[in-house]
Amino acid sequence: MENNYLQKADEKHLWHPYTQHKTAQPHIAITKGKGTLLWDENGKEYIDAIASWWVNPYGHSNTHIADAIYRQLTTLEHVLFGGFTHEPAIVLAEKLMKLLPDNQQKIFFSDNGSTAVEVAIKVALQFYYNKGEKRTKIIAFENAFHGDTFAAMAASGISFFTEAFQGAMIHVERIPVPTAGNEDRCFEAISKLIATKEFAGFIFEPLVQGAAGMVMYAPEQLDRLIKLCKENGVFTIADEVMTGFGKTGKNFACDYLQQQPDMMCLSKALTGGTIPMALTTFTAALFDGFYDEDVNKALFHGHTFTANPTGCAAALAGLELLESEAVKSGIKRINEQHLSFQKRIENHPRVKTTRILGVIFALEFIRDDADSYYGDFRNKLYAFFIEKGVIMRPVGNIVYILPPYVISAEELEKVYEIIAEALDKF
Ligand SMILES: *Cc1c(COP(=O)(O)O)cnc(C)c1O
Repeated sequence: MENNYLQKADEKHLWHPYTQHKTAQPHIAITKGKGTLLWDENGKEYIDAIASWWVNPYGHSNTHIADAIYRQLTTLEHVLFGGFTHEPAIVLAEKLMKLLPDNQQKIFFSDNGSTAVEVAIKVALQFYYNKGEKRTKIIAFENAFHGDTFAAMAASGISFFTEAFQGAMIHVERIPVPTAGNEDRCFEAISKLIATKEFAGFIFEPLVQGAAGMVMYAPEQLDRLIKLCKENGVFTIADEVMTGFGKTGKNFACDYLQQQPDMMCLSKALTGGTIPMALTTFTAALFDGFYDEDVNKALFHGHTFTANPTGCAAALAGLELLESEAVKSGIKRINEQHLSFQKRIENHPRVKTTRILGVIFALEFIRDDADSYYGDFRNKLYAFFIEKGVIMRPVGNIVYILPPYVISAEELEKVYEIIAEALDKF
């Protein structure tokens, strides 16, 4: 076929996410994926160093998940979840119960990370509404990212994602992230808010803020915040949409905590990057706040594809992989490789800081010009990586890697070499 045939055809009808089409480069048409690799329509090979926006930990076109999906599609592809149930949802719930913190007892299915957050926020607000208590506000971190639907967007703190919609959103107050040096500022801010008794929930990305550029903070700090919320009737919502399913080196970031959150949001890697699906999990106490003779106290929320059996089957196959020795040792080996790469470059004059948790590696470039999320420097880096055949999406001056767990030692070395080259070049 003619070179770039798909790329040209794309421009006619398609509108891409987070894209200013007037200034954006043409979109690269990918025609095949296997493991860590993707190929474009001209046969060029790419290493997917960010697991396609963090959804694909077991590699592209994974046959274990594909087989499970095929079996489910030819048994029961879908059935409505209102008034009906099915084995894939039940087995998945039972399986998740074994992995999640033991206070998590109920599961509500939806379609994506934003809807998982939407459900959590609605549950926090309606819980108090059902009780007749006026708690109508939510606490979130600065620079948080929780998704793009309205409540999720309101909880997100990256301003240019949300500024067009101010005035149409639920009331969210922001507190500083308790990164090293900011612990007390954070604690004081949340204490003040909580004292007003106007807050129903506190939502956070546990330990790592993905979209902010893999900003990390210590589990002890989050424990302190969760404990304070619990003592004051503020529900804690762990948005593990990015961190879930092994990325931090444990199944969930919350596994690093002493405290347990009241709710958890899961999506992205849930189905290994195959079928869009999400879920929100709850304590029994939250569920009980809706359990009543009064029909109006029910959670009137649902999506057409709620608990889609094919999605559940994909998630179950994904969990089997997560628990396999191959994946566990992959996660460990990636972490060790990150640590030795960190040693190699941390004294480079252009390195401001590096951070690592599990398979996540982030590096901040020193820049003279304060650079924005989608600034020039970022675009130059992105283009350089693409030219070299590595997919990474820098956030401002931050470059990060979040590879599929199946990335080989050699592929990961290649990614490091290209980052090292960028350090010398830019
Ligand atoms: C990606 C992400 C979301 C939103 O998920 P979508 O599937 O894109 O709606 C929410 N929270 C976090 C932490 C995320 O990384």
